Amino acid sequence: MSISSGYPRRYFLFDSFKKYNCLAAFNCDRRDLGFQHNTAIKENRANFLKKIKVNPLNLICLQQVHSNRVYLAEKKDRGSGASSYASAIAGYDGIATRDRSLPLAILTADCLPVFLLDVKNMAAALVHCGWRGTRDGIAQAALDMLKNKFKSRAKDILCGLGPSIRSCCYQVGPEFSDYFSDGLAKRKGKIFFDLAGANLKQLHAAGILKKNITDSAICTFCRNKYFFSYRKEGGRAGRMMSVIMIK
Ligand SMILES: [Zn+2]
Repeated sequence: MSISSGYPRRYFLFDSFKKYNCLAAFNCDRRDLGFQHNTAIKENRANFLKKIKVNPLNLICLQQVHSNRVYLAEKKDRGSGASSYASAIAGYDGIATRDRSLPLAILTADCLPVFLLDVKNMAAALVHCGWRGTRDGIAQAALDMLKNKFKSRAKDILCGLGPSIRSCCYQVGPEFSDYFSDGLAKRKGKIFFDLAGANLKQLHAAGILKKNITDSAICTFCRNKYFFSYRKEGGRAGRMMSVIMIK
């Protein structure tokens, strides 16, 4: 699996992106990087971003709403959501850019971060995929934006799947069969949903090549020692940060 660094270094990098001079990283040290709680967010962010060599003042964050909308970020957006939730860009769950040195971030605690990079046109996107966004095609919407704005072709797009709750632990209600035609498994009378699998299906359908996809295969619920899990911890759960930046 082309993902490196490991737990001792407190964050993961997708090596496949690094090869193209694109940073694609997420933290795995249970430092809270979201604004939900009154913890040392500023300090935690500074610490993580220093390690991955990102200027914390430039960070662009979203006020995520489980939509299928993707925001096109430009230099003027630098610092949106860097120091307060209120200043983050509201109403989107995906963010894309072709500008260099623009660090795009999303925050998760069970939802799936999907990293995308067009290696020909050097355009990047980062997507927050919960079940609602997945149902409404957020990954597909991000690919559409890369295609429409930057003339990206599916075969040139690298993809990385970050940590999320996986089918081993993601128990859902019977209503999920109304939303998803597959990706549901029954075990001992309980229904489990494969969130990563449902997104992989969208990516494959859009023409992304299997060889260009790296899945971290990390379950946030199973690996709760290193990752926050909303399912496991409820309202107390902090947030991991995923960051993408073309250097
Ligand atoms: Zn699990």
